[in-house]
Amino acid sequence: VGYFAPERLPDVARAAVTIHRDFGDRADRRHARLKYILADRGLAWFKSELEARAGFALEDPRPLAWTRDTDWFGWHRQDGGLHFFGLSIVAGRLDGALRRAVREIVERLRPEVRLTPRQNLLFCGLRAEDRPVLESILAAHGVALPSALPPILRQSMACVSLPTCGLALAESERVAPEVITAIQAEFDAAGLAGLEVQFRISGCPNGCARPYTAEIGIVGESPDLYSIHLGGSLLHPRIADAYLTGVRRADIARRLGPVIREYAAESAGGESFGDYCHRAGLDNLRARHGNFPQ
Ligand code: SF4
Repeated sequence: VGYFAPERLPDVARAAVTIHRDFGDRADRRHARLKYILADRGLAWFKSELEARAGFALEDPRPLAWTRDTDWFGWHRQDGGLHFFGLSIVAGRLDGALRRAVREIVERLRPEVRLTPRQNLLFCGLRAEDRPVLESILAAHGVALPSALPPILRQSMACVSLPTCGLALAESERVAPEVITAIQAEFDAAGLAGLEVQFRISGCPNGCARPYTAEIGIVGESPDLYSIHLGGSLLHPRIADAYLTGVRRADIARRLGPVIREYAAESAGGESFGDYCHRAGLDNLRARHGNFPQ
């Protein structure tokens, strides 16, 4: 649509949300997203409406290049001598001790709280003296620092699915930690304990957790049956392809095991799991590892 300086983001976000509010389709959920407004009314209309609501003209679009594929976990410096802290919210589920810890951090330290597109939280605008307080609150509630989480769990995303979403075909958010832990064990056993791998699971093919751009994407097909998608690349416009379908949840990690072991043995230095699966070819991987004793 156009380029704008990062400090204009709140104005643009407000404009986009109000466009969605005023023109979004509330009668048909399958046609309810902002992207359908843009597709139906056209780019010129959308840009002009966005500019009118944001109060400034967008510049011409610029080439977009991603240079990171993780959130800003842990402590980082920000402008003004302040600090921010990125907290991993596993599968986007804020409950129990984690919820109590977040509540206490917000009540005591009053940070600016940002929700990231990867389902995590940033506590911004903190002073140096707030750092030990925040860490002591997390420790008191038994919440692990992001650096202490297994890397696949730390990077994971899940859609809400059952029991919240009426379109769900299979469990997602509630079973994500169990599935991830089993997959992490396969990486650990292959000697890849510290490897960062992007894992995402959705409860139906609508893919709200963006499984099709993950290195390992799991998509619910029916109760307890999932498809496994491999080969996505988060830094490049390449999506994952279906590797296997009709896999029982309890078998997901075991079905991935041979591919993970091949990756450990055959990948070139620094090659990501997703890049390796793409280079090896899913047909080839399926031919080598697709048949699996039930
Ligand atoms: S992916 Fe499917 S089940 Fe999950 S939130 Fe989206 S529509 Fe619901």
